[in-house]
Amino acid sequence: MAETRPFTDRELLVASHNAGKIREIVDLIEPFGITVVSAAERGLPEPEENGTTFEENAYTKAYAATVATGLPALSDDSGLCVDALGGDPGVHTADWAKLPDGSRDFTMAMRNVEERLQAAGATEEQKRTARFVAVLCLCWPDGHAEYFRGEVDGTLVWPPRGDKGFGYDPVFKPDGYDVTFGEMPASEKHAWEAGRGDLGLSHRSRAFAKFAGAVFGAQ
Ligand code: IMP
Repeated sequence: MAETRPFTDRELLVASHNAGKIREIVDLIEPFGITVVSAAERGLPEPEENGTTFEENAYTKAYAATVATGLPALSDDSGLCVDALGGDPGVHTADWAKLPDGSRDFTMAMRNVEERLQAAGATEEQKRTARFVAVLCLCWPDGHAEYFRGEVDGTLVWPPRGDKGFGYDPVFKPDGYDVTFGEMPASEKHAWEAGRGDLGLSHRSRAFAKFAGAVFGAQ
C-alpha cells in the first residue's frame, strides 16, 4: 500500500449514490469536523464497476469522483460473501438486486441467495456462514489511493428479520448476536468511536476505524 498521505482538507466527497452507505459514512465522518458531500448530491454519473475485487471497484468509484470534482474522494465497495456459494454474490452483490429497469429489489436478491443456499443443501445454521466485506478507498486527483478493509462474520437467516438498515441487512446475523443487522439500531450496527479501543461491529465501521486511524490519527 502507498504511504499514508496526511488529510489536510476540510471537505471530502463520498463517492457513492447508495443512500444507506452515504448515511452511515456521514455519521462516521462528521465527528471529525469534515464537511461531506456525496456523488449523488453533485449529480456525478455512476461509473461502471467491472473489477474482480472490492479494491478495484472501490478505486474506480473514488478515482472517477475525485477527478470530476477536484476533491479528495472516499468510496466504499462492499458486498456479501456466502461460504456455501463459493463467495458469491461478492463483488456482484448489488447486481443480484438489479431489475431490468435499473432499479434494485433487495427482497428478490435475498430470496435468490436463499434459493441457492437451499439448492446447495445449506439448511443447518453452521452451513449458512457468510461475511460482509467493505473496502474504503481514499483517492486524490493525482491518482494516489489508500485502501482500508473491514469484514464481519455471521450467519444467514430466513425469513428476513427487521426493517432497519438497508440491502441484505435483514438476513445477516453477526456472530455473537441473536438479532440481524435489520433488527439493530444504526448506532449498534455501524458505530465506532475514537478512544473506545475497538473497531465497531459492521464491516463498514471496521474499515472506517482503520481509515480514521491512518488519516486522522484517531485510535
Ligand atoms: P456496491 O459496493 O455498490 O457494489 O454495492 C454493494 C451492495 O452490497 C449494496 O447494494 C448492498 O446491498 C450490499 N451491502 C453492502 N453493505 C451492506 C450493509 O451494510 N448492509 C446490507 N447490505 C450491504
